[in-house]
Amino acid sequence: MAQRDLILLGPPGAGKGTHAEYLKTHMSYTHLSTGDLLRAAVAKGSDLGKQAKSYMEAGELVPDGLVISLVAERMEQLGDEEHFLLDGFPRTIAQAEALTAMFERVGREQPLVINLAISDAEVVRRLSGRRMCPDCGTIYNVRRDGLDVGDKCPQCGGELYLRSDDRPEAIRNRLKVYKQDSAPLIEYYRQRGQLVTVDAEQDQHQLSAELAQIARGRRSY
Ligand code: AMP
Repeated sequence: MAQRDLILLGPPGAGKGTHAEYLKTHMSYTHLSTGDLLRAAVAKGSDLGKQAKSYMEAGELVPDGLVISLVAERMEQLGDEEHFLLDGFPRTIAQAEALTAMFERVGREQPLVINLAISDAEVVRRLSGRRMCPDCGTIYNVRRDGLDVGDKCPQCGGELYLRSDDRPEAIRNRLKVYKQDSAPLIEYYRQRGQLVTVDAEQDQHQLSAELAQIARGRRSY
């Protein structure tokens, strides 16, 4: 069976970045993150960037029309042999419907939507363990690296701190927002038979292998 286009859905801390990296290098996916594209547009000062900037700074969603045309443009450049790995898109039902229509228009098989399931407690545990260096930006983890707030960064000597949005209360708020946004999408894709839910709390290497099997159509769901 041919390799499928994929959409990764999951709250912050579920491991989307890590697994996107794995699929990109081991299965040559074209990673498309709307957050990255929008940040690049803002940095470049393009028309799109100017329009998107204030929404992004306020932590709000950029209007559907802008994000949809960004993805549509990229989709038109996609070769037949290339495969999409979408991250951060769709975020609303209007975006999901537009994406379905884009795939229909070009006659591509609809993407699989991988829902990385993880408990709130595990997200809080993972994110609240992060410690960041204010000087070089390196991220450490209390449990993995044994470094805590106030310790010196091994790279540059900066004093490690806990990001304000990685405090347990802020994490719970980010989770609440994620659930509000994603619940309708999960239902939309479940009804269309495109949803695959995986256990994102299992060992990272095991999960990477499972995702590769799913992408190759070698695991039933
Ligand atoms: P991210 O890096 O995915 O967290 O995205 C950073 C910011 O870009 C978000 O807070 C939104 O303002 C904007 N953004 C990214 N993707 C989308 C999307 N699919 N729809 C609307 N806004 C988006």
